[in-house]
Amino acid sequence: MAAPPLPPPLIHTHTDGGVHSPCCDTSWTTTWLRLENHPTKGTSPSSSARSTQISTNTLTDQQKEFQQLARRFAREEIVPAAAAYDKSGEYPFPLIKKAWELGLVNGHIPQEYGGMGLSIFDSCLITEELAYGCTGVQTAMEANSLGQMPVIIAGSEEQKRKYLGRMTEEPLMCAYCVTEPGAGSDVASIKTRAVKMGDEYVVNGQKMWITNGGKANWYFLLARTNPDPKGSAGKAFTGFIVDADTPGIQVGRKEMNMGQRCSDTRGITFEDVRIPKENVLIGEGAGFKIAMGAFDNTRPPVAAGATGLAQRALEEATNYAMERKTFGRLIAEHQAVSFILAEMAMKVELARMAYQRSAWEVDQGRRNTYFASIAKAFAGDIANQVAADAVQVFGGNGFNSEYPVEKLMRDAKIYQIYEGTAQIQRIIIAREHLGKFKK
Ligand SMILES: Cc1cc2nc3c(=O)[nH]c(=O)nc-3n(C[C@H](O)[C@H](O)[C@H](O)COP(=O)(O)OP(=O)(O)OC[C@H]3O[C@@H](n4cnc5c(N)ncnc54)[C@H](O)[C@@H]3O)c2cc1C
Repeated sequence: MAAPPLPPPLIHTHTDGGVHSPCCDTSWTTTWLRLENHPTKGTSPSSSARSTQISTNTLTDQQKEFQQLARRFAREEIVPAAAAYDKSGEYPFPLIKKAWELGLVNGHIPQEYGGMGLSIFDSCLITEELAYGCTGVQTAMEANSLGQMPVIIAGSEEQKRKYLGRMTEEPLMCAYCVTEPGAGSDVASIKTRAVKMGDEYVVNGQKMWITNGGKANWYFLLARTNPDPKGSAGKAFTGFIVDADTPGIQVGRKEMNMGQRCSDTRGITFEDVRIPKENVLIGEGAGFKIAMGAFDNTRPPVAAGATGLAQRALEEATNYAMERKTFGRLIAEHQAVSFILAEMAMKVELARMAYQRSAWEVDQGRRNTYFASIAKAFAGDIANQVAADAVQVFGGNGFNSEYPVEKLMRDAKIYQIYEGTAQIQRIIIAREHLGKFKK
């Protein structure tokens, strides 16, 4: 099969308005710049959030700096390596390490613990750019945020210093261990048990689908501490921080998934694992709220990741449509194809607005559950639609792994499943919406 020439250098419609090729963008310096703390601009996520802007036309200079660095890293480092990682399923640690050195990972860790204290909005800008490169790589990085978020929102000073601090000292991974073979959406049905014995808890149970499961230095673990199945979920579970090298932890094989294949997903078995009581978050019975509360902060970045994938699909399809000819004209000149591209563009722009709104809300200190679920559900759905449309625009070539869009279609599917399925998001949106009308 003869492959047509590769598209010309990507032409990007930037979120800050300009249209240009990053390959010849003279604003880039030839050396990498590392993102640094800007003490004068805020010392905590909340103070950093004050500089957050809702419109991408008014991003601050600092936000543009984050976005540009992540964009360059994605284009120059992730994009060229993505197909090989997808094929081998190898964990992309060299990329993660480099991103960590540049300050593109763990940005939301507060400055008190060695991080940059970025707002959720700023973290989302970075996430969208990284996801453009490869969402398998980006999910591996993002799983750190999910694992860390319970500690950020509920950890004691000592827990934060110990477990967040070490992640700013070396490129370590962590993971969020909640789902089990028998319970995903229905979190309150998890069976893993933690029993208090003296100054320790003894944990037995099995977790499933844990991103970074085999690479994590520590886990956030949710386990049942109240054995009474009739007890309220809000008080029956406890959240723990667990060092991954604790005796009794067995990490399963790497799962071979449909997409995001370089991300490390595994089952983990806990057999008489002893956790010191100092590693309980807040207190016994507080775990369910902590585990669910983390999603208000992590669903906006998941939506940003889906948007990054959709942006990539739109650009790949547009470049292809501007090259490929049928019936004597570019396929972009057939109205039917241009309308596919127009629909794709509408969806990408709206998904971006949705994740930015949800991030901005939580950065203002407001409850954003409604907006976070809207963003996650919408961006997850449109990533799938837009990736499928990109395959359509590529015709037969779209179905082939020599071209980038079939990977995008496989990678997109998980956005309708993890961090709450598309159906669960609708349940949340309906609950929040109807709640406003209750008399
Ligand atoms: C690649 C990957 C990475 C993951 N990473 C992590 C991780 O790091 N940590 C972690 O804890 N988990 C992780 N998960 C688990 C993920 O969050 C769950 O798979 C997801 O929440 C769905 O749970 P489930 O698979 O048990 O499906 P189920 O809950 O069994 O759902 C099956 C189907 O039924 C639908 N459904 C369920 N209940 C309802 C309802 N009430 N109304 C309508 N429809 C409903 C669902 O939407 C879905 O379509 C990951 C999963 C995958 C595949």
